[in-house]
Amino acid sequence: MDLLYPERCVNCGAFGASFCDSCEARMLDAPPIPRCAFCRGHWDGKDNCPRCFELQALDGVRAVADYEGPARRLVLSLKYRYTLPVVPVMARHLQPLFDDEAFDAVVPVPLHPSRQRYRGFNQAELLHRELGLPQPPGQLLRVRRTRAQYALTSVGRAANVAGAFAYHGDALEGLRVAILDDVVTTGATANECARVLRDQGAASVTAVAFARANYGPTSPDDALHI
Ligand SMILES: [Zn+2]
Ligand SMILES: [Zn+2]
Repeated sequence: MDLLYPERCVNCGAFGASFCDSCEARMLDAPPIPRCAFCRGHWDGKDNCPRCFELQALDGVRAVADYEGPARRLVLSLKYRYTLPVVPVMARHLQPLFDDEAFDAVVPVPLHPSRQRYRGFNQAELLHRELGLPQPPGQLLRVRRTRAQYALTSVGRAANVAGAFAYHGDALEGLRVAILDDVVTTGATANECARVLRDQGAASVTAVAFARANYGPTSPDDALHI
């Protein structure tokens, strides 16, 4: 199979690896920017950014990289070109976030079953499995299809995902929970998941994503959480 489909870097096309050393170095060497302490989005004002006020159910947002350049290509190639060899690459970079903070259960953001059937996998579940993260005692399900978040305002995004998730199984009483996704934008999806998990007794809920979008994704290929 390697002869038919030689591995190529999803960012620059170089042969030899699904994500080459120089693109990986570029991703990691991104110059630091001022960030909101809560959501880690770009913010150079005092305290938290105003966007965080809408994330009442979350305890914070963590991410490996900003959703741009090589990191963005990793996410998009997995989601739309099904480049499964990038999963271990993304997982390797996510690992330190889980080393830094102890979580009792990690919940991948679910896709609607019809979306998962179409794609054949849920990228958040693949990352969860690759990292061998602790399972919740029940299952978070997406019970309603939602529109692509990228085309909506922040108020529209919250409304779009309201009531989209349900939890089945044993409660999460007192557990420190993380929600795992490939990319987080406004946090509206993660916040709605967190609301449902808190209703089940979760003591804290933190969103952990491979990439953190700094708002304003405009092109259809940035369709998030559809
Ligand atoms: Zn490359
Ligand atoms: Zn913020």
